[in-house]
Amino acid sequence: MKTKDNLKITTKIKASERFLILSHVRPDADAAGSVLGLGLALKNLGKQVQMVLSDGAANFSYLPGSEGITRSPEGDVDMIVVVDCSDPHRVGEGLSGYGQPDLVVDHHKTNVQFGKFNVVEPDQVATTAILFDHMPTWGLGFDLGIATCLLSGIVGDTIGFRTPNVNSEVMRKTAALMDLGANLTDIYQEELVLKTFESLRYWGAGLGRLERKNGLVWTSLTLADRQEIGYAGNDDADLVNVLSSVKGTAIALIFVEQPQDKVKVSWRAKPGLDVSEIAFKFGGGGHAAAAGADFEGSLESIKQIVIQATQKLLE
Ligand code: AMP
Ligand code: MN
Ligand code: MN
Repeated sequence: MKTKDNLKITTKIKASERFLILSHVRPDADAAGSVLGLGLALKNLGKQVQMVLSDGAANFSYLPGSEGITRSPEGDVDMIVVVDCSDPHRVGEGLSGYGQPDLVVDHHKTNVQFGKFNVVEPDQVATTAILFDHMPTWGLGFDLGIATCLLSGIVGDTIGFRTPNVNSEVMRKTAALMDLGANLTDIYQEELVLKTFESLRYWGAGLGRLERKNGLVWTSLTLADRQEIGYAGNDDADLVNVLSSVKGTAIALIFVEQPQDKVKVSWRAKPGLDVSEIAFKFGGGGHAAAAGADFEGSLESIKQIVIQATQKLLE
């Protein structure tokens, strides 16, 4: 980022009293951790901060400050920041009536640079890792709660340091956050190990339908699965990460049926392949190794279209 921009961002933060921080629908740990990490640091300076996730933060009750996250903003604000989100639509309803964000902080390759200032660093493992770098230069400090939120984003987006973009720099940041008191074991347990009984039965439904063809592995989860099992959590309960653990998989795909004839698709690619382009082409986005998109249509028709297009990528 240009130093001049960084100075302007710092000035804007200093001059603003009322902040609105938002991230993407269906929040993951990086979305929640970024909203909270930045939000708590601003609160420590005595600023008024609204932290907004359109779908709420029910999965993130273990994160400090998460009880302060709301689903929609209220009243006037001086500065709008969107974190971990590649385009304005993916914020959900939270931005409506609020105009262009002042600042976008993100690491998605497919980011459309929709802020007045855009700190977009696709080489970073998580948006919280970008915040870790820039917050001190913006006059924002860390404490135990903030460190926990920032480390949470790193652990989540690297699936526990498993993605190929993890390097020694990421480990140094992790160590620095642990030195601030963040408990890696607890974060790891909450985010990646502990599952509800229902989510494992939901995985079972998906795993029972696992298919494979030429390096492509896929399955689907239906609304009927959710209902029969009583699963109420996030879309695929992270089953796609299990699919990509099948030996010999180049790309793993999961189709999650949604109400009103919609389908959520997730791609995971082995190192060297890039699934962000195909997701972007279908109106979604993401990273080389992990991307997603939302479709309208029946589960079967979307499966056909997406499997065919993804197979082309492998040819
Ligand atoms: P997911 O498959 O939902 O776990 O998402 C994988 C990556 O793609 C994450 O970085 C998401 O932020 C991104 N992503 C997923 N769905 C979309 C979408 N509809 N539009 C833009 N980015 C998305
Ligand atoms: Mn995210
Ligand atoms: Mn992220």
